[in-house]
Amino acid sequence: MIMVFCQQDDGNLHRVGLELLSKAVELAKDIDAKVTAVTVGSDISHLATTLTQYGADRVILVKSELLEMYNSDLYTKALSEVVEKEKPEIFLIGATQLGRELGPRLAARLKTGLTADCTHLEIDKETKLLLMTRPAFGGNLMATIVCPNHRPQMATVRPGIFEPHTSDTVKSAEIVEYTPSISFEDARIVVEEFFEKVREDLDITQAQVIVSGGRGVGSAEGFEKLRELANLLGGTLAGSRAAVDNGWIDKDRQVGQTGKVVKPKLYIAIGISGAIQHLAGIQEGTYIVAINKDADAPIMKIADLGIVGDWQPIVNGLIKKLSKKASKEDDYEMARS
Ligand SMILES: Cc1cc2nc3c(=O)[nH]c(=O)nc-3n(C[C@H](O)[C@H](O)[C@H](O)COP(=O)(O)OP(=O)(O)OC[C@H]3O[C@@H](n4cnc5c(N)ncnc54)[C@H](O)[C@@H]3O)c2cc1C
Repeated sequence: MIMVFCQQDDGNLHRVGLELLSKAVELAKDIDAKVTAVTVGSDISHLATTLTQYGADRVILVKSELLEMYNSDLYTKALSEVVEKEKPEIFLIGATQLGRELGPRLAARLKTGLTADCTHLEIDKETKLLLMTRPAFGGNLMATIVCPNHRPQMATVRPGIFEPHTSDTVKSAEIVEYTPSISFEDARIVVEEFFEKVREDLDITQAQVIVSGGRGVGSAEGFEKLRELANLLGGTLAGSRAAVDNGWIDKDRQVGQTGKVVKPKLYIAIGISGAIQHLAGIQEGTYIVAINKDADAPIMKIADLGIVGDWQPIVNGLIKKLSKKASKEDDYEMARS
């Protein structure tokens, strides 16, 4: 059996769980296995239908009022009970902040290995082992890791790597409710309240157009210009790690190996050199426009279109052109109405 942990927040499923369910359906064919989705929480019964649509043969709802809010001690205990009972061959978790905390704790509890932050999964045709691939040595090579002697074979997988697919046929799945033997005393940390961060922009993993800035942009004010360009293009703003370290953009908008993997149609990289760790976050098939004053910057070698020069007059020019176009379109709309 392949088990997929499907994270929910406030009764809404995180997309990465659905991505992994779809991948699990594919992997399951190679080892002739069934796919089980497991989700944890308090009021979660309504999620079973969606999990079935995305390919689960079986859905386990791990329910308790103590699990209403995420708590790593309680989640680890509850999930380890389920894994010990069900004995899956493979256990997949999305590499969200929650998944990155939960995965290693769970693996330690289950005395198995974990390959963190995978970007590729497949089954070895001969050994039937899960081949878990992730960037290594600062992204300079890809390492494929196997877990031959312990079960389950565990991996956390980055969001945005696999496409979620609903099943072509109307599926029915076995729905199981599981009450874990957890108590308040099992939690060493008490979560009293969650403060939700208000997200102003679209999640970068979902954006079709991304305007991304690096150290070369030089300031937070520079990023405001980039935001203006992104808005005119109907896109969103992202950045390199250098931009995040400088405090010009939030960490959740970082593209790259230690940030997020993106696959927009258009990626405009401004003042970004194109370090391998940054490029690890841009999926193939993306049209890359690079604006850089250095014609020999590595980004220029992979860009579909390279514009050499200081970013400011180039971006100002683009904003001017696009604003004119937008106001002409508005005039046209007004004239028609
Ligand atoms: C383990 C590890 C993980 C990492 N993970 C990530 C990651 O997830 N994401 C990430 O981005 N990085 C990551 N890094 C860091 C990465 O190696 C680079 O240091 C970083 O990407 C550099 O950011 P940058 O391109 O913005 O800055 P720089 O490399 O300093 O490049 C700035 C660019 O701006 C250009 N420039 C300067 N002024 C102008 C101007 N006025 N107009 C136009 N162009 C100009 C320069 O020519 C230069 O090419 C990681 C590193 C390690 C070791």
